[in-house]
Amino acid sequence: MAPPTTPAAEAPAVTARPRAAPATPSSPAPIPTLLDFHPLEDPRFTEIAAFFDHLRAGRFSTTRCRRDGRLLWPPRTVCPECHRSELEWVDLPRHGRIYAFSAVLAGAPLGMEEAVPFAVGLVDLDGVPLRLFGRIEGRPWTELAIGAEVNVEGFDLPDGRIFYRFRARPASPGAPG
Ligand SMILES: [Zn+2]
Repeated sequence: MAPPTTPAAEAPAVTARPRAAPATPSSPAPIPTLLDFHPLEDPRFTEIAAFFDHLRAGRFSTTRCRRDGRLLWPPRTVCPECHRSELEWVDLPRHGRIYAFSAVLAGAPLGMEEAVPFAVGLVDLDGVPLRLFGRIEGRPWTELAIGAEVNVEGFDLPDGRIFYRFRARPASPGAPG
């Protein structure tokens, strides 16, 4: 009987991580963010790489079905309604309001420990039937409120990738919440 193969023996070659930031001699090895070991933004691994390219260019986008007009989030390659792949990229509103939020006070995902405490929440984008989850910056979580206005922004991850997050408007003097 042949010995069982180990997962390490079946792992893809190291060259499958082209976007990982190389460690400099003076810095420790890069820590994976959210245990995400795969370069999901690379067109060799995903068909939604355009989302990240758009984000780098200042666009916040998703896919919409050309047949039934269904707006899809997150961006998809097949419409879950009609099961066709005739999708198009469309820009989304970059403004919305907090539907619900919470705070991460402990037990942050790997690579995010130093950011504690931070807020996460659900945001309803203006004018479209989409409720998005994401991190909320701009104000301490204790100063956030349901219904508060937020903007969508791109932010660069330490390993060279990009993602989106929400930014609450700063408190204005004398304004409640
Ligand atoms: Zn469809």
